[in-house]
This record gives sequence, structure tokens and C-alpha cells, in this order.
Amino acid sequence: PYSELFKAGELVFAEGDAPTCAYLIEAGRIEISTTQLGEPRVLAELGPGMLLGEMAVLDDSTRTASARALTDCRLIPIDKAQFAERLANADPVVRALLMSQLTRYRSALARLTGEVDGSDPVLAAQPDDADAVDKIRLESELRAALERKELEVRLQPIEEIVSGRIAGYEALVRWQHPERGAVSPAEFIRLAEETSLIVPIGDYVLARVCDMLVEFRTRGRKPLPFIAANLSGRQIDDPGLVGRILDLLRARDLPPDRLKLEVTESLVMDHARIGDLIAHCHSVGMPVALDDFGTGYSNLGPLLTLNFDQIKLDASFIKALDRPRGVAMVGVIVGMARALDCDLVAEGVETREQREILHRLGCRYAQGWLVGKPQSLGDVLEH
Ligand code: C2E
Ligand code: CA
Ligand code: CA
Ligand code: CA
Repeated sequence: PYSELFKAGELVFAEGDAPTCAYLIEAGRIEISTTQLGEPRVLAELGPGMLLGEMAVLDDSTRTASARALTDCRLIPIDKAQFAERLANADPVVRALLMSQLTRYRSALARLTGEVDGSDPVLAAQPDDADAVDKIRLESELRAALERKELEVRLQPIEEIVSGRIAGYEALVRWQHPERGAVSPAEFIRLAEETSLIVPIGDYVLARVCDMLVEFRTRGRKPLPFIAANLSGRQIDDPGLVGRILDLLRARDLPPDRLKLEVTESLVMDHARIGDLIAHCHSVGMPVALDDFGTGYSNLGPLLTLNFDQIKLDASFIKALDRPRGVAMVGVIVGMARALDCDLVAEGVETREQREILHRLGCRYAQGWLVGKPQSLGDVLEH
């Protein structure tokens, strides 16, 4: 790669310079120094493989220290724009951590050199810092909420349209936040997925679901309804998942076919991975549903190769039932599901008209506000 040579004793950059680039030290040693109350003071000695001058580049401020070659050096310049781009694309939390370290380092440096006038522009927060800090806070709160069991698992009924009977439920998690109120899973599940927090949350939901099945059995509900639980990408990657679910079921002497797993279409991109999960589930008698069918990544590929037991048709198709095109498409999907020997569940059914059309088209199950909203187990058992 392209590099610049500096002779022993030569200045690489000086305090007060405007930065154009940072450097990666390929060979040689560099001394970093600053002026403290008029006296030079050595801050660090750097060697091969280390970065140099990256701080001023990161926050685009003037150099707060000088760099001098102690020996003959070979340095690879790294353009300011190169950092800026990486930083812009970085996880906002990582960016906030980096910027806060930088701020702290700079104020320590200012104290060291006696320039504590507090006017350092670096101390101004980055525009998206607030969001990132908010995210960090939410993440710690979520961790605590899980420990305090503030996450509630609600059940939304799924009706068999022909008989009008509630065949099962979907488990939907809720976070009752002391100040923010009910935080939508759409918000915190994504957050949890960015960290490993989704694994204990997922395990918690699955354990609650099994406890609820026991509750239904204890109350003598016959046939025992199924409960469907949503899986996230991280959970699918976890090779121990199915084993842990089986342990939960066996400990309660529950039949495995009463627990359904829902895998959202956007996660089905990696067919081999999902194929393994389905095979594992089928070998123990657990059904798997393809969730949100017809959204975003819309593609018939998953259905071509993967042996799902159930397809959940996204609510956008149900909304389209007020148009002939929508009716035509749902009709075709009903036929396809039947040909594949898959049960079809219509999601987001809100009106009688929609249920009527679905009935006529031969869709087996309906889920949505018309049938029932997500409810606490207590409310479900009262009906
Ligand atoms: P989803 O799996 O597609 O769940 C259906 C969503 O549609 C739920 O939103 C439900 O409350 C909502 N819904 C049901 N019927 C109707 C209706 O008639 N009209 C309208 N407008 N909406 C309806 P919710 O509970 O906010 O959950 C959002 C998403 O969060 C879920 O989408 C699911 O992907 C995810 N999620 C929920 N619980 C869990 C969980 O325990 N684990 C994981 N990994 N994800 C979860
Ligand atoms: Ca779902
Ligand atoms: Ca869905
Ligand atoms: Ca089947």
C-alpha cells in the first residue's frame, strides 16, 4: 500500500494543525507530545500497527498534540473521509461510546495542558448522541425488566373460521414500562436482537407459553389449544433452542404439537438454516409457521424448499380484500397453501366482511381484532 516516509526527528504533524488524515504506523517509532504550561511533555510512544492522529480526524478538530518520528518511519495515511464514512455507518451506540471516550480524553488533555476554559467545541454533543444514549438506557432498562419479570406475554386468539372455535393463540410479548407505558415489541425486540438479550427474552416467552398451556390443561380446556411463539434470528441460530424447548415441554408433560414456532419471512433468507430448524422440530413433533407471508422479502422460494406446516398471510393482503385484485390473490394463496398441505392463517382480520370473504375463499384460520385483541392469560381464561 501507498505509504509516506519520515526521517528520524522529522515532524509528522504539529499541535494546532488542521488534520487531513490519520496514519497507520507500518515501521518505526513515533513520539506524541504536547505543550504543558509552555513545557513540552511526552504523552506516548507509538510503534508499528498503531494508529496515529486519528482523534482530530474523528471529530474534525485541530491537532491537540504533535507527532515526531523517533526513528525513520513508514506511515500509511488514512483519509479523513474514510473515517467519516465508517463512523457514519457505525452502530449509533458504538459511535456514542467512541465520541464520549474522545470527549473525556480531550478534557483530560486540556486539564493536563492547563487549557481549561471549557470552550472546547469537541464537548458539544453529536446530533445523534441523544438517540444512542436513549438506546443504551432502554437496553439496560430492558435487562432489568426481564429480571423483574415486567415483560408480559399476551395471547391473541386464532379462530377456525368454519367452526367459529378458538383453535389456538399467538403469544405476543409486551413491556409495561414504568414511565414510558406499554413499549411495543416492534421497538424493543429489534433492540434486543442487536444484543444477545433476545436469547433470555425468548427463553422467558417460551417458558411462559408452556406455563400457559399447563394452565389451559388444568382448567380442562379440550381440545388443548395451541400457542404460537415468535422466534427471532438469534434464537434460530442457537443450536440448543429446540432441545431447551423440549425440556420445557417434557418437564410439564405437554404434547409438542401444542407449541408452534413462527419464523418471519425476512429471516427465511438462509434456507439451509431454517431447513435444519424445521427438520429438527418435525423430528420431535413441533410445527413451524411461516410468518408475515407476502411482505418485504416476498418470494416463493422459501415455500419451494421449506416444509412449513402453516403460512400466516400478512395483514396487508387482508386489507386488500376490499378490492377484486386482493380477493383474487388471496384466493390463489389459499389454493397454494392447500396444495402444499399447509394451514393458512389470515392475520389482521378486523371486519366481518373480511372474515366472510376468507370463509368463502376457504382460508382455515383468522386472527385479528375481530376475533380478539392480545389479552392477558387471566382475561382469556375468564371467557
Ligand atoms: P407479528 O408476529 O406479525 O404479530 C402480529 C402483530 O399484529 C401484533 O403486533 C398484533 O398485536 C398485531 N395485530 C393483531 N391483530 C391485528 C389487527 O386486527 N389489526 C392490527 N392493526 N394489528 C393487529 P405486536 O403485538 O405489536 O407485535 C409486533 C411484532 O413484534 C410481532 O409481529 C412479532 O414480529 C414481534 N414479536 C411480538 N412478540 C414477540 C416475541 O415474543 N418474540 C419475538 N422474537 N418477536 C415478537
Ligand atoms: Ca407472529
Ligand atoms: Ca405476522
Ligand atoms: Ca402438513
